[in-house]
Amino acid sequence: MARRYHIVLIPGDGIGPEVTAAARRVLDVVGVFDIEEVEAGLAYYNRTGKPFPDDFLDRLRAADATLKGPLATPVGPSGYRSINVYIRQSLDLYANLRPCRGYQGISPRVFNMVIVRENTEGLYAGIEGVFRDQALAVKIVTRHGSERIIRFAFEYARANGFKRVTAVHKANILKLSDGLFLQVFREIAKEYPEIQSDDLIVDAAAYNMARTPEKLQVLVTMNLYGDILSDLAAGLAGSLGLCGSGQIGERYAVFEPVHGAGFDIAGKGIANPVAAIHAARLMMEYLAQKHSDPYLARAAKSLDKAIEATLVEDRVLTPDLGGNAKTMDVAENIAKRLAQLL
Ligand code: NAD
Repeated sequence: MARRYHIVLIPGDGIGPEVTAAARRVLDVVGVFDIEEVEAGLAYYNRTGKPFPDDFLDRLRAADATLKGPLATPVGPSGYRSINVYIRQSLDLYANLRPCRGYQGISPRVFNMVIVRENTEGLYAGIEGVFRDQALAVKIVTRHGSERIIRFAFEYARANGFKRVTAVHKANILKLSDGLFLQVFREIAKEYPEIQSDDLIVDAAAYNMARTPEKLQVLVTMNLYGDILSDLAAGLAGSLGLCGSGQIGERYAVFEPVHGAGFDIAGKGIANPVAAIHAARLMMEYLAQKHSDPYLARAAKSLDKAIEATLVEDRVLTPDLGGNAKTMDVAENIAKRLAQLL
């Protein structure tokens, strides 16, 4: 009998409930998920005065994985601090996995690349200060943090059939901090002789991504560079609505579309659900690997094909991609294609 998985689904704000409902429709086809909805975010805050329920983290920790929609963070001193940052820190989600594909006839560029971003260190450690007329920000690069993110990238490449991992850095200028990251990368690369390894200075990486994105496969990098390059990848794909992401730690993992709450199009049923469905696919890949589940591994591959067929062959496209399909039209088409492939 197939193993079943307990998933927490946080619908989130704005277009979140629409795109996560679409992802749920597709997950239902796979047939192995018990889904528990947990409310959080702006709408929940406006109703209850709290950004999330008291047992929020316990419920996330009790699940096999979490799939979430975007959560709005109000700007300014009133309101609450980012729930996304709270989740990441509380669950120690050190790896930010951002695969992005550009599709034939849909995206300005055709490519399939994965950015693996270190999620806890670098310039985002939040250590800043002012000394006389100088403002300082401290960049933290540790051997431990570098090792675990670089090993994560090689393991991801190995498990998902990628042939090359590229380290992105600025070690020519930051000889000690980025230099340590690059040194650790070269050491760990030796443990994976079947996977090619090379490195790019971050400015050259941006140039290469814009010029020849099809040549890149898995990129592993520090927090700030990964933040910027992964938005560049979504831009090359043609819409924020196309890329999903995973935030993964030793014990827990949370998957989400890369876009925000899209308040300008919320409630109209026209948001592109592909990013949320890709997030669900990444969750399936993660669970398949963690639990050595061949059915789920096959289903994740089939879902990738079903998404591609829906966009490229069937051309069921939401307005951000120039079409006039509704969110649920895309989900239904992907569900139908997936059912044929399973
Ligand atoms: P956004 O991603 O919500 O919107 C930017 C533009 O992209 C908008 O025009 C929007 O309509 C469009 N867009 C986004 N997703 C789309 C989709 N699936 N289909 C079609 N079009 C889509 O970015 P923003 O306006 O800067 O942020 C809005 C809110 O979302 C903010 O409160 C922010 O804090 C939050 N946010 C949350 C997350 C998260 O939870 N991980 C990430 C980013 C932003």
